[in-house]
Parts: sequence; C-alpha cells; structure tokens
Amino acid sequence: MLFLTHFHSDHVSGIPDVWLSGWLGSPMGRRKTPFHVIGPVGANNLMTNLEKAYSLDISIRTVDEKLPPQGVAIKVDEFAKDGVVYEKDGVKVIAFEVDHGDVIKPAYGYRIDYNGHSVLISGDTRYNPNVIKFGSGVDLLIHEVAMARPELMSNLFAQAIIAHHTSPQDCGRVFAQAKPKLAAYTHLVFLANEKVPEATLDDLVKQTRETYDGPLEVGEDLTAFEIGETVKVTRWKQ
Ligand SMILES: [Zn+2]
Ligand SMILES: [Zn+2]
Repeated sequence: MLFLTHFHSDHVSGIPDVWLSGWLGSPMGRRKTPFHVIGPVGANNLMTNLEKAYSLDISIRTVDEKLPPQGVAIKVDEFAKDGVVYEKDGVKVIAFEVDHGDVIKPAYGYRIDYNGHSVLISGDTRYNPNVIKFGSGVDLLIHEVAMARPELMSNLFAQAIIAHHTSPQDCGRVFAQAKPKLAAYTHLVFLANEKVPEATLDDLVKQTRETYDGPLEVGEDLTAFEIGETVKVTRWKQ
C-alpha cells in the first residue's frame, strides 16, 4: 500500500519501480493482489496514466513470465479533505492538509494510529498548525526540514525553495507544541551551490535546539523506528 502526500516529481517518480518490481517473481515482490494507492485528488490521474505508459511491459510480462494480472492491477482511493483515509484491523490512517506553498496543492501529511500508539509524518510543508493539531502527543513525529547557510540566502532560487519548507527553528516550534515521545527529521533539504557548501547535521540540531529541547533524531536512509512503550531507533549504517 502506498500513501501519497503530494505530486512533486521527486515524491512520485519512484512509483513505477515499487509497483512493477513488486509484481515480479522471486527474488522481487511477487505481489498477487492489486497495488493499493491512497492519495489526494490527482492520484487517479497519475496511476491511470502510469498504467497506460507501462501497458506494453505489463502485457509482455503477463504472457512471457506468466505473472498474475491481479498483481499488477491498481486500486486508487482519492480523498479531498482532512479525515480517515484508511481503517483496517485496528490500523487507522488520517490525512490532514499541510501548507507546501500557495500553488503546491494538494499537499497532505498523515497520522497513523494502532493499539494506542501513533506516528505522524508531516509530508512536505512550511510551518503549519495542522501538524501540531494532529501530532499532539504522538509517539513519533516525523517532520521535513530545509536549511541553507546564511551566505546562500541572497540567492532568489534558494529563497524560493526554503519558502516551501520548514526551518529547523520552526520544526522545533512544532515539536515543542506537539510534544511527541520522539521527534525525528526526514527529507533534509540542504541547499548548496559551487561557492557555498551545505549546512551540517550539527547545524541542523543546533538550530532546532533554539526552540526545542526534547528527544530528537535525525533520520537517514533505512533508519527504523520500533514503537512500544518507548520508541526504539535502529540505524543500518556500519
Ligand atoms: Zn514537495
Ligand atoms: Zn519534497
């Protein structure tokens, strides 16, 4: 199952791989039931046209590799406002609108609840009170963040990108108000150019600490969070 937050290409261009490789035989996904996509209005259009774009590959593999047609089928559930978008076996997922910029709509975050525990992921957004409202008291609050060294901020392109995201200080404000058991960063937008290098992870933490002094992790690829009485963090890098 795939949940879409918004339609920026860097958030959707990997879908064909997840969808189609997930259908392939061993050692790939071997999916035999439809690929379920839940997302804001626009999800149907995206998935219908991906199906068209890959139709020849699908028909070839169905005949050649005898893969089950139902495993490549797509089921889309679209939503247009805040609310429960999935509920099954005690798992409840709530979508809530965020603010990724005046014309970058729709843009949503998600909250997942199960067995008295909860996780929120902000999606791409500027500082937005909806994240605090839905994230209040969650076990794990995962937020996007963007930053650039001050020397880069005279650059109009950098200003435009930063304006679509949340600064470390504003993320700290969100964490301080929502008070999750653990706050974590994902989607680190660290701007740079030929002359000005990226900010560092130390800069990120230091700037967050200006507004928040609770538990904080900076996520990286394959970081896993196990939620029970506490939130256990596992990193996969050697
Ligand atoms: Zn985006
Ligand atoms: Zn993004």
